[in-house]
Amino acid sequence: MKDVANRFAAKVFNLTTMRQRLPKDTYREMLHCIADGKRLDIAVANIVANAMKDWAIEQGATHFTHWFQPMTGITAEKHDSFISPDGSGGVSTPSGAIMEFSGKELVRGESDASSFPSGGLRSTFEARGYTAWDPTSFAFIKDTVLYIPTAFCSFGGEALDMKTPLLRSMEAINRQISRVLKLFGHENVTPITTVGAEQEYFLVDQEMVNAREDLMLTGRTLLGAKPPKGQELDDHYFGVIKPRVQAFMQELNDELWQLGILAKTEHNEVAPAQHELAPVFTTTNISVDHNQLTMELMRKVAHRHGMVCLLHEKPFNCVNGSGKHNNWSISTSEGVNLLDPGATPFENAQFLLFLCAVIQAVDDYQDLLRISVATAGNDHRLGANEAPPAVISMFVGDELTEVLEAIEHDAPYGGHDKEQLKIGVDVLPRIPKDSTDRNRTSPFAFTGNKFEFRSPGASQSIAKPNIVINTAVAESLRQFADVLEGAGDFTQALHDLIRDTVRAHKRILFNGNGYDNHWPEEAQRRGLMNLRTTPEALSHLLDEKNVVLFEHHGVFSAAELRSRYEILLQNYVNVIHIEAETMMDMVSRNILPAVSAFSAKLCENARIKAEVAGVACGYEKARCREISRHTDEIYAIYSTLGEAMHHADAAEDTLERAMRYKDDVVGAMNALRQACDACEAMIPNDQWPYPSYTDILFSVK
Ligand code: ADP
Ligand code: MG
Repeated sequence: MKDVANRFAAKVFNLTTMRQRLPKDTYREMLHCIADGKRLDIAVANIVANAMKDWAIEQGATHFTHWFQPMTGITAEKHDSFISPDGSGGVSTPSGAIMEFSGKELVRGESDASSFPSGGLRSTFEARGYTAWDPTSFAFIKDTVLYIPTAFCSFGGEALDMKTPLLRSMEAINRQISRVLKLFGHENVTPITTVGAEQEYFLVDQEMVNAREDLMLTGRTLLGAKPPKGQELDDHYFGVIKPRVQAFMQELNDELWQLGILAKTEHNEVAPAQHELAPVFTTTNISVDHNQLTMELMRKVAHRHGMVCLLHEKPFNCVNGSGKHNNWSISTSEGVNLLDPGATPFENAQFLLFLCAVIQAVDDYQDLLRISVATAGNDHRLGANEAPPAVISMFVGDELTEVLEAIEHDAPYGGHDKEQLKIGVDVLPRIPKDSTDRNRTSPFAFTGNKFEFRSPGASQSIAKPNIVINTAVAESLRQFADVLEGAGDFTQALHDLIRDTVRAHKRILFNGNGYDNHWPEEAQRRGLMNLRTTPEALSHLLDEKNVVLFEHHGVFSAAELRSRYEILLQNYVNVIHIEAETMMDMVSRNILPAVSAFSAKLCENARIKAEVAGVACGYEKARCREISRHTDEIYAIYSTLGEAMHHADAAEDTLERAMRYKDDVVGAMNALRQACDACEAMIPNDQWPYPSYTDILFSVK
């Protein structure tokens, strides 16, 4: 690939493009608008819109769209062309056209919102919603369309999307970080939260997906016997990348780079056919937008290469599923990372305060963090010894633990000449970055200068976890700032505050193996929550402390939160409903006929062998009995599954409905799968109606 540096962000209307294209005054107004959220007046918006349109047309664009992120977790768009009649030839028979794009069209769009989930927020007679430009995330061109990132709200101003609460949460945490930084003498710094999301995915041949209803409709295999070889040999992780995959990665990188997405690291993951892509981190809302685009382009580019990119959390039963590590930090706009332990006592103290803010936030809002990653797909991953457990805990590494313990007990710190550590006076020992990243089993790990939240699922929007992290940390910082702003002796108050926070929240710190079977018991003794499934997690979303948190920081109103609760629960139900329907269809139309045919074939063979040669036919008879037993079992569970769905759907209350799906429907699906998989292991490939795991996992050469 030539000229990467010049192609980078070539399709983005970013600051460089703006500086080149906008009059000086307008450019300055835009900078204000981006940095301080200052509203553009309409005259200025007109100039920006016009420049954007000219630039877009030069790049081959004919349409624009307000690009938004409804609560479905994916993105939505509706294209409008720039084209307008030029006024010649009268109203009915325009003879010429011009390309137009006004400031009004840039800033605000109307949209029929009635087909997007609203969780009861919007009654049908008020079906309109509107989209509002987010100037902090740059417009870009994809295909022949100018994409304008927007927030999506009801006419009453209620958020109907992921971006609105995300932006609100960023404001909330920024307000509190600024208060705290002021106490350390940093006036007028603009804080930003930064995110880098490592994305895992599978690539399989398109043919395999075409041949499997489950992969096509649900993104995962609902059936499939364990293959002889999975990930046991650890020969795929960081292994040589196959040529077809390499070609895909190259094209993907090029597309991402042109959109200004800094795709950085690519490698094979643990499971066969599994890979990972990590970008360079950036501001939270841009990172969220970029991750959405990355997922979309992964699917698109894979398709061009005759492959399908599976982003489901658990496409295959017997090998690791896919997650998304959400790396999160806070810094200043000058690029000073506030989670970097500093070199001076004062910097150290500031670092420890921010560290404690995160510790308190994770402990106080374990439930919200768990909820932020709760989906039907992710339930297969969390706690399955391949991803962090459903219990939320935090890893800070041995060095920091020792420091925190010394602070907690007002005790001498071992590494520091056995002297008592005075926060704000003494220098902390150096905390080597590498030594903090050994634990891969922790849901929330400090990795030297950032936190890595490892529970998010591969297919979900990372808006949700970041909304929770930002808001929960904002709340700790608010409490800290309240105490410190009123303190007489700042250093002493700081020391006490850090010590008291460690004392109150140390139960959340766990450096051990998160996959260990004893950990959930130990976690329970510590009073930590273990919300194993999505409905169990969601049942806590509306707990009073959570409503108070979001309302207090202006991130969600109680009504908005209630609507999300309804949507998330119903989404869980819908996903499992579709999976169960798909499974029943596969079983009814293909599996049962196949197993029946094969056992009949065995009988037929046995009869001929007995007639012709008078032999015993032990294999045929035994296999036939075995398969027939499973066949009846499959048929019985198939009926139970139908009834379980019926019973679950009848529940009035959404939570009750979701609980019934979790217990009865998922339970029956697991049993059905077991019986089918047992048959698959006994039936020849060409008589089994679906490609096997071996076929699929090793389909890309
Ligand atoms: P590893 O996790 O393998 O040690 P890195 O630490 O280099 O790898 O980065 C992993 C991810 O974390 C990358 O996407 C990177 O951009 C992101 N990251 C690094 N520093 C920060 C930060 N300060 N804020 C947010 N994300 C970060
Ligand atoms: Mg990492």
